[in-house]
Amino acid sequence: MKQIKTDVIIIGAGLAGIYTALNIDSQKRVDIIVKESLIVTNSNLAQGGIAGELDFIQENIDAHIDDTLKAGSFLNNKEAVKVLVTEASENINKLMNFKVDFDRDEYGEILLTKEGGHSTRRILHIGGDSTGKDIMKALKKECFTRENIHIHENMMALELLHRDNSCFGVSCLNNGTETIEFIAQNTILATGGIGNIYGSTTNSAIATSDGIGMAYRANIKLEGLEFIQFHPTAFHNEFSKSRFKFLISEAIRGEGAYLLNSEGERFMKKYSPLLELAPRDTVSQAIYREMYDTWTDHVYLDTRHLGEKYLKNRFPTIYNHLKTENIVMGKDLIPVSPVQHFNIGGIKVDLNGQTSMNSLYANGECASNGVHGANRLASNSLLECIVFGNRIANDINNKKSHKIDFEGHIEQYHSYKYNYKPIKKKLGTTMDEYVGIVRTKEGLLFAKKIVLKMKKNLNKYPNNSKAYYEALNMVQTALIIIDSALNRKESIGCHYRIN
Ligand SMILES: Cc1cc2nc3c(=O)[nH]c(=O)nc-3n(C[C@H](O)[C@H](O)[C@H](O)COP(=O)(O)OP(=O)(O)OC[C@H]3O[C@@H](n4cnc5c(N)ncnc54)[C@H](O)[C@@H]3O)c2cc1C
Repeated sequence: MKQIKTDVIIIGAGLAGIYTALNIDSQKRVDIIVKESLIVTNSNLAQGGIAGELDFIQENIDAHIDDTLKAGSFLNNKEAVKVLVTEASENINKLMNFKVDFDRDEYGEILLTKEGGHSTRRILHIGGDSTGKDIMKALKKECFTRENIHIHENMMALELLHRDNSCFGVSCLNNGTETIEFIAQNTILATGGIGNIYGSTTNSAIATSDGIGMAYRANIKLEGLEFIQFHPTAFHNEFSKSRFKFLISEAIRGEGAYLLNSEGERFMKKYSPLLELAPRDTVSQAIYREMYDTWTDHVYLDTRHLGEKYLKNRFPTIYNHLKTENIVMGKDLIPVSPVQHFNIGGIKVDLNGQTSMNSLYANGECASNGVHGANRLASNSLLECIVFGNRIANDINNKKSHKIDFEGHIEQYHSYKYNYKPIKKKLGTTMDEYVGIVRTKEGLLFAKKIVLKMKKNLNKYPNNSKAYYEALNMVQTALIIIDSALNRKESIGCHYRIN
């Protein structure tokens, strides 16, 4: 089998993968693999911005820590939160050195916005609402100038290569056919989210929980998978059959938009003194309640008092998208509903991104270092990718190189011609219905029964395709989410149980 030997293999080129790569010593060879093309990531979709205190003013640092803990219902790892907030400035400055250009006012001062759960304006953004796309553009450009970094597109990681609780790299499927092994001294999982397990999500198509699936099969510790964040305001198009739902950024509520129910009532006052700027779990659960009480499947975002001209300039991506849906921001009400958005738990890591397996790190949305607790504070996840990516890079930079020999083995399945699409579809409707914003014991047990059947089918009909491995990763992760949700009997953060 073809083998590529390297110092560091990074699985994923979202912000978590790319930023880590850029901070690794240039004498080390770094290979980055991505499942599809470089632009298909959740990082590219990020609109609102990146949270962070640029000046080290103790009061502001403490306020960011406080807001993060409050949003997370104090279930956060406090040490990790402290690291996140205090190392924000160093890493945001590094982004700027990589030519990331945040929006500024006419005096050259960085513009800051606010989102749900933030007590002050501390969110930096680019292009109004294209923060992720613009950060990624600058970092990819920087990557292409580095001779030690090798990027491989259409290279899907299948399984971790490991022995005696040490990782030696990963086996992959190149362009859907050829199998390749990357043998590496250090392996980093940066595979992103799990969104496509659900029937409606804001996530990109690559978010099929591959990192968590691989880690699970290698007996690596996972945590907190019951905590799935639902974004309150995805655009609601009743005719769309697509799993992907376009996000209407929380920053619009940060700039003063209201939520109205189908009867035109501004309802958030019934649920939180913070109104529309309450943390996401509170707002999503409030919308769910309103939809239930009024027999509707959406509510409205009201931007009419903010004016079309201002909104077109401040949120050009969202304005233009809504125009294609025949909605004019600032003039029309925007129909919205909550959908799956972010995976809070994942592969358990320490403060240096180290997993429970030697020489294996995880970063970004697939990892769990405890910063988010039971619910993520808006715009803290891009920050998490860079702060902990930098720490992983430092840890690797401080290690001595060593030689490794490893011969892996990729399971060669009989080539069943099996269509995994129906499994993915049924998984989505099951998770939306029974493992969504509001959960019951009966619903979770019912979902488990259905998903176990899917697992049985997958065991019967494996093959060496991308579709099979994605379905396997999704089904295995769904079962862990359901079991974790069953085990956590109390409601906390975005895990809401009514029995
Ligand atoms: C619509 C939207 C808006 C958001 N807005 C914000 C915001 O304003 N602020 C904020 O802080 N956060 C925001 N988030 C969350 C944030 O964008 C993500 O949590 C973060 O970008 C995740 O980065 P990542 O690098 O972990 O994953 P991603 O950026 O999703 O990258 C994952 C990478 O892994 C690769 N990959 C996956 N599986 C495999 C495999 N098997 N083999 C090889 N490669 C693989 C993919 O190809 C991809 O390159 C938003 C998310 C969404 C979906």
